[in-house]
Amino acid sequence: MSERRPYLAANWKMNKTIEEAEAFLGAFLPRIESGGPDVVVCPSFLALKSTVEHCAQSSVRVGAQNMHEEAAGAFTGEVSAPMLREVGVDAVILGHSERRQYFNESDEALARKVPAALAAGLEPILCVGETEAQRDADDTHAVLTHQVSTDLAEVGLAELDSVVIAYEPVWAIGTGRTATPEQAQDAILFIRNLVREREQGAGERIRIVYGGSMKPENAGELMAQADIDGGLVGGASLDPDDFAAIVAAAQ
Ligand code: PEP
Repeated sequence: MSERRPYLAANWKMNKTIEEAEAFLGAFLPRIESGGPDVVVCPSFLALKSTVEHCAQSSVRVGAQNMHEEAAGAFTGEVSAPMLREVGVDAVILGHSERRQYFNESDEALARKVPAALAAGLEPILCVGETEAQRDADDTHAVLTHQVSTDLAEVGLAELDSVVIAYEPVWAIGTGRTATPEQAQDAILFIRNLVREREQGAGERIRIVYGGSMKPENAGELMAQADIDGGLVGGASLDPDDFAAIVAAAQ
């Protein structure tokens, strides 16, 4: 692991009621010491406020799983960055493959969402990654180049350090099939080099994490790779023991 502070985010997706989120935090927060990795939990919109309140005395921060790029307006069912900030949210997952796949999230929309998040003071966790068919067709680098260059096109150099990129190969998400440490390292180094092309220092500083069936059993090996700065964790983050073990593997 490098000088970059490890970063672990829990993506609970459409799981956990407010009561269940509170029960998780009751078990999880006592196990997280300040001064360790950055830890962010991302519950559903409805559980955000209560999660922020429960995390207030800890070093754990709270993220949302999506947001709209406009601050306000006629966008029924949407939530904006200032609304998230108002309840104390610090981060937001953008471009998750489930949103790309089921809700037509486009790179063009992400090119607006990422700067909108930054402008509001939210840390974007930008998800990129190839499908199995794209990997099989040897298109992984082309896909990552397109996603990273489009999604970050409107982000200035000064703000790049505030973005966290999650490399999430779609074929590894929720499938139990983890990328090998070498596959994850190769793709993440490729992404880091894309950022280095913008500016060498930004490429060194930006945090790039791996996501896709990360578990306590494989987290240490993945995060031991030179360019993997942590994880975006779905299924295994639903269990406080498992997620705490993954956080511990990053230290
Ligand atoms: C995710 O949804 O971001 C994810 C990585 O899920 P899982 O860990 O369950 O593969």
